[in-house]
Amino acid sequence: MERYEPTPLTTLRRGSTRARYERETVHHILDEAVFCHVSFATLGRPACIPMAFARLGESIVLHGSTGNRALRALRDGAEACVSVTLLDGLVLGRSAFRTSVNYRSVVVYGRAEEVEDPAEKQAALRSIVEAAIPGRWQDVRHPSETELQLVMVLRIPLVEVSAKVRTGPPADKEEDYALGCWAGVIPLHQSAAAPVADPRLPAERPPPRYATHYQRPAHPPEEAAR
Ligand SMILES: Cc1cc2nc3c(=O)[nH]c(=O)nc-3n(C[C@H](O)[C@H](O)[C@H](O)COP(=O)(O)OP(=O)(O)OC[C@H]3O[C@@H](n4cnc5c(N)ncnc54)[C@H](O)[C@@H]3O)c2cc1C
Repeated sequence: MERYEPTPLTTLRRGSTRARYERETVHHILDEAVFCHVSFATLGRPACIPMAFARLGESIVLHGSTGNRALRALRDGAEACVSVTLLDGLVLGRSAFRTSVNYRSVVVYGRAEEVEDPAEKQAALRSIVEAAIPGRWQDVRHPSETELQLVMVLRIPLVEVSAKVRTGPPADKEEDYALGCWAGVIPLHQSAAAPVADPRLPAERPPPRYATHYQRPAHPPEEAAR
């Protein structure tokens, strides 16, 4: 299937022309993001915790300490809502009302399952490291058996999923185009500064190329309705 089937929960109502359900669009947004927000209810209260993640095929994987509250709640059956946002620009309309943002975002609903098989756990941790810093896994010591036991890994299937994308200039009211103020877009994007070496590294040790040339996988937003 080329797209995720919208459900009552993932059907966009306001701004529905910006809705995207194509797998490729969703995958690109998830792959470009560095972290997500994991929401769940626990003891009758909502909670929302930022976490690293990776997309592994048609799942996202999360990891953390076996004592982690969010992971424990999800493992024990709490419904998860995971969201990811890429902020692409500030949209300066001619009215306060039409001041907006260009963005690409994804919301995923689902139940998590624990990844317990050591080889699968190792693969999930690899994907999280590689999602953040492509090329890093081959250079670092891999988790020992003890370290693997200290980490909980969860998988949330990509089934109930939506994306929403806004691109382009302001969408002002027709009569406001005659106003004198500047209007347009201030593009925003994630970029890396020069790497800062650990003071305990030998001075002559140069940083690897994936650090000096660090960049997120770039999938420029497709033109979408505003
Ligand atoms: C970009 C990013 C990526 C992260 N990636 C991971 C990850 O992959 N795995 C992981 O285990 N942790 C990650 N963390 C840390 C994570 O956000 C939590 O702080 C951590 O999981 C603590 O869990 P806990 O069970 O001890 O805390 P909880 O019991 O969940 O938290 C108790 C309370 O502490 C406060 N709190 C907890 N975390 C935060 C926070 N980040 N900011 C502000 N207040 C907070 C809240 O009020 C919360 O209700 C990441 C944080 C950030 C910002």
